[in-house]
Formats: sequence, C-alpha cells, structure tokens
Amino acid sequence: MSQVRLRFAPSPTGYLHVGGARTALFNWLLARKQQGRFILRIEDTDVARSTQESVDAILEGMTWLGLDWDEGPFYQSENFPLYKEYVQKLLDAGKAYKCYCSAEELEAKREKAMKEGGKPKYDGTCRNLPPQEDDGRPYVVRFKAPQEGTTSWVDLIKGKISFENVELDDLIIQRTDGTPTYNFVVVIDDATMNITTVIRGDDHVNNTPRQILLYEALGVPVPTFAHVPMILGADKARLSKRHGATSVMAYRDMGFLPEAMVNYLVRLGWSFGDEEIFSLEDLTQKFSIESVGRSASVFNPDKLLWLNAHYIKTGDPVRLAGLVTPFLKERGVDSEKGPGLVAVVKTLQERAKTMLELADGAVFYYKDGFEYDEKGAAKNFNPETPALLELLNAKLEGLATLDMESVEGVFKGICEEKGIKLGQIGPAVRLALSGTTASPGIYEMIVTLGMAETRKRIERAMAWIRR
Ligand code: GLU
Repeated sequence: MSQVRLRFAPSPTGYLHVGGARTALFNWLLARKQQGRFILRIEDTDVARSTQESVDAILEGMTWLGLDWDEGPFYQSENFPLYKEYVQKLLDAGKAYKCYCSAEELEAKREKAMKEGGKPKYDGTCRNLPPQEDDGRPYVVRFKAPQEGTTSWVDLIKGKISFENVELDDLIIQRTDGTPTYNFVVVIDDATMNITTVIRGDDHVNNTPRQILLYEALGVPVPTFAHVPMILGADKARLSKRHGATSVMAYRDMGFLPEAMVNYLVRLGWSFGDEEIFSLEDLTQKFSIESVGRSASVFNPDKLLWLNAHYIKTGDPVRLAGLVTPFLKERGVDSEKGPGLVAVVKTLQERAKTMLELADGAVFYYKDGFEYDEKGAAKNFNPETPALLELLNAKLEGLATLDMESVEGVFKGICEEKGIKLGQIGPAVRLALSGTTASPGIYEMIVTLGMAETRKRIERAMAWIRR
C-alpha cells in the first residue's frame, strides 16, 4: 500500500480551538499509525480575516500538544499562481466558464426562482455562451458541474453519503477580483499535495460533493473522507465561549497538562473498550478513525479535570517542577530560594488537580510570613500547644538525620510521653508549618522544609499562640 498522507488545514482567524485541535490530533494519529505523512497547511486565502498572530497561536497550540508535522506549514496565500493555472486548465477544457452576470442580475434571478418555488441556484445563463474574448466586463469563473446523477462517497465515520447533482450549484471558483474561492483551493491543494485521507469537521459535509466533482473534472484521484461530528456544550449547543474556554492554550494557562488535553480530546468521539487513559504513544497503536462515533460529543470539563489530576499524580516530578515554575513566578515565588522544587512537587502532586492548584499549594514552602487559617487556629492552637511544639522542636533538633522515619519516630515519642493522640498535636503542626488545615502530610512537609525552616516556623507559631 502506498503511503498515506493526511493534513490539518486550519484557517488562521483565531486561536487553536478545542475542535480544531481534535481534528489535528485525529489526522496526526492516523498518519503516525500508518507510518504516513502529516502535513500542515494554513488556509489563509481570506486575507482580511487571517492574521500572523493566529498562525503563531495555532503552531504554538500544536507544538504544545506534541503534534509535530512532517511537511509545511504551507500557506495558501503563497499559492495563488498555482490556483490561477488550474482555473485556466478547467476553462481550456471547457469544464469551467466565465460568468458575466452582475450581482443585481443574480439577485433578481434568485428572487424569481424562489417565487416560482424553485431552488435559488444559478440558472446557467452564461453556462452555454460560446467562449468569448474579454471585453473588459467583470466576470467570475464558474465550474460547469454535472446536472444529472449523484455524487456520493463512503465516509469513514458517517458511512455512505449521497447528493443529487441537481442540488449543487455551478460553483464559483474564481471571483471578479481574480482570487480563487475556498472549495476550489482546498481541492487544488489536496490534489497537488497528494492527500489520501481528509479528516475534518462535519460542518464541511456539504462542501464535499462539490469538491469531489472538482477532483473528477481535474482527473485526479478523490481522497477518502472522514467527517468528525461536532463538539457540544453541556446544554447540547455547539461548543462556544459561553461554555468556558475553547482555546487549547487557555487550558495550558489554567494549569492543564498537554497529555491530559490529548487524552481528553481523543475521547471526544473515540473509544477503545472501557479504557480511559491513553498516551500519544498508545494512541498511535490503538486509534482508528472507523471507531469514531457518529454522534456529536459533549465537552465535559470534569472529565478533563479528572484526567489532568491523573497525569499530575503520575507525572515526573522533575518535569512538573519545570512546568510549575512560571505559575510560581506569577505568585511572587522564587523557587531557587527555599526547599528544592522537585521535593516540594512530590509532596503536592498526589492532590493537585491542576498546575495552578499545585502552584498555590507550593507557595507556603517559600513564603513564611503567612497568616494562620482563622478557624483552624481557633480549633487547633490551644493553651497547651506551645509546650508540645517546644518539645517537638527539641526532639527534632536531636535527630541525626531528618527523614520520614525519624520524624515519625519523634511524633510517636511525643504522643507516648505525653499520653496524647496524634490528633492533639498534628493539626497544630500542620497549621504552624503551612498556615492551612489542608496541606501535604506533616512528616513530608517537615522533611521538605528542612530542619532550620521547620524549627523557625514552629517557634513563630509558639510565639503567636502565647501572645
Ligand atoms: N480551513 C478549514 C477550516 O478551518 C478546513 C478545511 C478542510 O479541512 O478541508 O475549517
């Protein structure tokens, strides 16, 4: 079998949207699975709406997700001479024609057709004109579409789809100003880039029969199509900003990991038994476009959060430390000063659902002037606490090494000596060290903070209670 070639073809009129990212991912996965090529093409023929900023945002999003491309990015705006050449080819072959009907004439025809209960499609006035010399009148170029028969394809996701050719208009392929139109350039690009499989959103289903007719007119192979169902919000309306962030990079900024995003995106429409956790690596084996479901998927932020928590919990602390650093900077923390960040991360990754939560949770390690949680202090800082804290400090000082076991031994010793339960000292120590009632485990906090910092914080709490 010859090599498969897939592409992602975003229009750079905004950031990389969740839906676009999923389309990119599906294309990427199929290319990787079948050892094919993945091509990135920027569809920027709409010059007025396309921006370099969007291009950069899209490339950034793909890079963040780990979706590398083998060819491109190609820009349609750089391909205008090629499109012109193909328009001419179709004209020369009699498969396209110049249409001189003015906008007003077309409008009048449309109204007339509607009144008579017909389809508001082009009536073909210029279709059968003999070829004529240009006399300076403006014209568009229309594709001479077959008026009979059906155009159909077997969609890899949706199954067989057919359109009656009478339903299809004589598509404009070149505008009055000489620029080519959307459906035409997509075909020229997909044909000249030898794209074998087109995976795209199902908002393009109506374009596909028109495009197939163009492939046929050009005498080039028609690619296989797979139209991916939409993504909806919880209210079953098309996913939009109303439902929350739709930009992939906004999720990074909210503390999501790319592997969680990838895992979440692939499950929007695709499943593999009842497995939930997939790495990109796994997916290049397991993914298949035929097992993408036919119905729309609902975006579920809770599930994304659950996956993110999973990947933080099981993530490499060294990498997580690198990723959390910018978030700590935003919180005014210089993690160079204080306990090692990797050790800090290890104490927090078990519970943090996002990198923001992880950053928030790490702040107390680096900032010691914190206030004590009010309710927690009222409950856990008692008249007898300072004496216990003092004993704790003395015992800690006597330790040869500060590790989980030795610290645990110290607490056990205090409880035995004083005939108290761990609950009578633990929460106070937690509060003294972190200012909060929900923190990492007490022993690991002590080990991570180190002897000097731990003792300093205990003393501060003693003074605070006695005051
Ligand atoms: N540029 C189109 C879009 O962003 C994609 C067209 C295609 O994949 O054929 O929706």
